[in-house]
Parts: sequence; structure tokens; C-alpha cells
Amino acid sequence: MTYAKRYGDNKRDSKISQFLEEIDYTKNPNIYFITPRADPISIKEDSIKGLIRQNYISEIISDLHRNDYGKVLPKLMLLEKLEGKEPKSIVQNLKELDYEAILKQIEEGEIKKEKIIEEELTFSASQFTTYKRCPRIYKYNYVYRIPTLPKPYFDLGGTVHNVIEELSKKIMEGEPIDIHLAIRYLKAFWKGEGYTTEKAEREAMDDAVEILDTFIQEQQNMGTTIVEAEKNFTIKLEKYSIRGFIDRVDKDGDDYIIWDYKTSKTPMSENELRKDFQLLIYDMAVQQLFGKRPKQVGLWYLRQNKKVVIEPKDEEIQKIKDQILETITKIMDEDFTPKPGWECGNCDYAILCDEKEKLS
Ligand code: SF4
Repeated sequence: MTYAKRYGDNKRDSKISQFLEEIDYTKNPNIYFITPRADPISIKEDSIKGLIRQNYISEIISDLHRNDYGKVLPKLMLLEKLEGKEPKSIVQNLKELDYEAILKQIEEGEIKKEKIIEEELTFSASQFTTYKRCPRIYKYNYVYRIPTLPKPYFDLGGTVHNVIEELSKKIMEGEPIDIHLAIRYLKAFWKGEGYTTEKAEREAMDDAVEILDTFIQEQQNMGTTIVEAEKNFTIKLEKYSIRGFIDRVDKDGDDYIIWDYKTSKTPMSENELRKDFQLLIYDMAVQQLFGKRPKQVGLWYLRQNKKVVIEPKDEEIQKIKDQILETITKIMDEDFTPKPGWECGNCDYAILCDEKEKLS
């Protein structure tokens, strides 16, 4: 187990996990506790260097997308310098290029566009959802692997998911759950660094407690049995493997029901759900895990305590299989045609993408 006194660019030190406090990690004779020696100056220098490097890379990609090639070379030279190399070597290498010969080779078809991606055989369910949102987001995220800026807000949804997963495990073990236990887990998973004021943190904590309280009350009325929580799966579709996690699988008599928890504010409609990659992939996963198609798949909106449920039809599953294979073919053909629209407003890569500007 490890912890850091302070993470990333946070202004405040981090709270130590409740689990570490419970085992009294500094005094516990069964624990070998070490504080690695770290030179704060070199850590700071490394992190600043990494940030500058990331900034240059983002700018270079942005320049390329804008056809602003003239700005690329100086930035490449600065990158070389940052890596401790000789920046002039880039220009010297360029001098040695025989442009006429290269142009001739392009015209005669000897130089073809290089493929940037290797054939991939394993995908995650969320890759297809990303491609559907916008193929260019897919390219930035999964091909170029450009990290997104850290979000200043705290991931309340993720923490609530973690708490519910622990509560579900307790239920599966036959143990009782209540709001006090939920709050203990919440405090253990809580990371307050994203908040700028104590008031904002307190309000978020109250919000999370309310969501958990609603969940616990609803759980008491559920007539089904939880059989899996945060179940990971890999399914086969032709030669491809698709990986993912199912939040929860319930058993109702001999039938299975899949739940995906949501903390978002706007529920999906049943019609949208019928075309949702993720949920229908979970349907296929349950069939492969338990040898039987689930009776229902649904989204459980924790905030509103609203459930949107469908009984997927065979033809809908077949359609989603066809769409997955079609999406894989497009990815392999490097078809990342952008799909500008309302997604641009929420896009982490909008700063790199020229399509958003065209919309305004
Ligand atoms: S800004 Fe719009 S078009 Fe560009 S990657 Fe994002 S969603 Fe796609």
C-alpha cells in the first residue's frame, strides 16, 4: 500500500485513507512502513518538464490539424532541447532529405500513407461508445493516447459507485447494510483535493449521502438477489475479444437482470437504451457467463431513484453485433472522420480540434 502526502498540483495535503488509519500503519508491528526519500527539487523539476513537454505535444498536434506546419519545426526543436538532445540535428536531418526524389516516389505511389494503428483484437465496451460520440475523439484518446487535462471537480459518481459496490458485496455475504456503514465507506473512498472551498466539499458529501440513502431504501424493496457486483467479463465476437465490467447482476427466480448505475441528471429514454452499445454488450456477456440471456437490462439512476429498463430483442442484439464489427472495420481502416455537433461542447479535445471552430 502506498500513499502520497500531496497529489499532482493539489494545493492541500491529502487525507490518509481510513483503511491505513484503521491498521495503525506507523505503529503496527506487522507492518513495515517506509517513507521513500524523495528530493522535492528534482520531483518539481520533473513534473514541470513533463507539463511543458505535454503542452508542446498538444500544440504540435493542434498546429498539424490547422495545417499550420511552419509552427511545428521550432516546437520540435524545443522538445529535442527539453530532452537534452541537440535541437540542430532535426534541421540537419531535413537538409539531407532529397525532396525531389521524395515527391517523385509519392507521385509514383512508392510511398503510401503509413498506417498508424496495428490490427487490434481486444476492445473495451467503452471504445465503441467513444467512436459513436465522435471518431476524432477516439483517435485522440485511443490512437494518439493524448491525456486529457485533470478535471478540477471531484468524481462524485465514481466514489458513489465504489461505495455501492462495497455495500453490494456485504449484501451478497448476507450482512446487513445501513446508512452508517455507507457513510464509513464514503469517508474511506473520499478524496477532497478537487474542492476549492470546504463548503463545496461539504455540499458534495451531503449530496453523496443523500444518493446513498435513497439507494439503501430502494434496495430494501428489491425482490431480487444480487449475484455479481462489478463483474469483469471478456466476450468473443468472431476473432475479437470485448472486455468490460457490469455494475450489478441480479437473479429473479431463474432469470437474470443487469443494472448499470448512473449518477447523471438526465435519464436516457428506452429508445436510446435499445441502441446503447454498452448495455447490449452486457446482455451478450451475461449470456456467455451464465448460459442464458438476461430477462432485462437497465439503467438505475441513483439520484432520481429512477430505473429505465428494456427487454432486448434478438434482432437488437444482432444489430449491435453488426455495428460493433462495422465500427472495428472503420477503426482498422483509420476512418476517424470528425462528427462535430453538440458533443463538441463537452469534448476534452476541443482545444486541439479545428472542427469546433467551424461550428461557431
Ligand atoms: S471538438 Fe467536436 S469534432 Fe472535434 S473531436 Fe471533439 S467532438 Fe469531435
